[in-house]
Amino acid sequence: MIKFLPIGGAREIGANSYYLQIDGRGILLDCGIHPRKKGIDSLPLFDLLENYPLDFVIVSHAHQDHIGALPFLIKKFPHVIIYTTPYTKELMSVTLHNAVNILKKEITEEENISFFTHEKIDLLVRSIRDYDYNEEFELLGLNSSGKLKGCFYDAGHILGSAMVMINANDRKIFYTGDMNLSKQSIEVRADIESLNNVDILIMESTYGDTDTKLTGNWESESNRFISELNKIITRGGSVLIPVFALGKMQEMLMLINEAIKSGKLTDAEIYTGGIGREISNIYDRFRYVVRRKNPETELKQILQSNLNEISDYNYYKKNPGFVLASSGMMLEGTSSYQLAQFWLKQKDFGIFGVGYVDPSTPGYKIMNAKKNDALKFNGDRQVNIECDINRFYFSAHANRDSLIKFAKKLEPETVILVHGGESAQNWLGYNLLTYMPGVKLYSAELGREIILGD
Ligand SMILES: [Zn+2]
Ligand SMILES: [Zn+2]
Repeated sequence: MIKFLPIGGAREIGANSYYLQIDGRGILLDCGIHPRKKGIDSLPLFDLLENYPLDFVIVSHAHQDHIGALPFLIKKFPHVIIYTTPYTKELMSVTLHNAVNILKKEITEEENISFFTHEKIDLLVRSIRDYDYNEEFELLGLNSSGKLKGCFYDAGHILGSAMVMINANDRKIFYTGDMNLSKQSIEVRADIESLNNVDILIMESTYGDTDTKLTGNWESESNRFISELNKIITRGGSVLIPVFALGKMQEMLMLINEAIKSGKLTDAEIYTGGIGREISNIYDRFRYVVRRKNPETELKQILQSNLNEISDYNYYKKNPGFVLASSGMMLEGTSSYQLAQFWLKQKDFGIFGVGYVDPSTPGYKIMNAKKNDALKFNGDRQVNIECDINRFYFSAHANRDSLIKFAKKLEPETVILVHGGESAQNWLGYNLLTYMPGVKLYSAELGREIILGD
């Protein structure tokens, strides 16, 4: 018997974590924290697993909304075995250590997090079993009745990102994690050629409610981005580009570097900082062993100034350039948030959004405002926007039309939609039923168990 129970990331993109039980053995697919919530509230609902066996965790990739809650899970279930790709394992080490530093500031005195320390993270990462793409492995635990096999496929989302095929006595269950079916500046599209004929497909639905025209075409967005960057730089301004430290920063750095090298973009300073730089080093280390574009370019060879060393922001007036600062959604207290307060008052400057912004974040407010608007940004203080604001669509996720095509290719009997809002799942659900009549379709619901026959 197969059971499926979402404990986070159902009808939203949050603490993504989905429990799967196959013939009495339990596998958790991802174990993330909610990006907008803090402390204990940001975790998946682990209490729902009280009466279920749990043997394994499969990690699709190293974004916080897929791995951030692992230290909490390991405290509750110390025996579980974690599987991921070698690249994600390396990235997890950097991002989980960084999370220790952040969590220390957020958590209240009563909430005991003595288990979430740098030493414990080292132990956790060391215990991970890593397997390369396309390499079949056996999920081996204490309870080993019957064979459970796994195999990772490149998901084309960020370095190390994987989709996973689980094979249990010839029943095939496929989980996409976050996937992309078109190319970026470094990542190439998900490796789907050899895939077919699965029984159960657990599919992400991030862009289910976004028209494919709006999810952008990387190539044409790059051209528009470069021409708008040129406008700001030639008038002597600097451009703030808020980015996620893992993925979007490396993609944008590569894009800007390629554009300068080819003469399409005016040569100017590039500013980066924080853990994004450590992550770039991991991209460099594995550049020849994963599928990617431009493996010959090392990100650390691209000349960059460290934005963390610049305390007087007037420096950006004297030395115009491209500032890649995290976080992507300009969350309070982050570099991009600090810089934005200065940027908004500079008439020659620009803020260019390049990724997803959640409606409740400062990044969303800014991205939906324009020059000369009055904006309540920092508490109650009103700011008049003097700089240019521009929005670009560089997506690391598959658009909704390609998700439908992908599902059709896999010919599943059952599809379960996860990692997307309600309207996203409605559009995908309606279209899946139209193009795949007879498919059993579920929209994952928090705490609601689905029983999938034998
Ligand atoms: Zn992701
Ligand atoms: Zn995600």
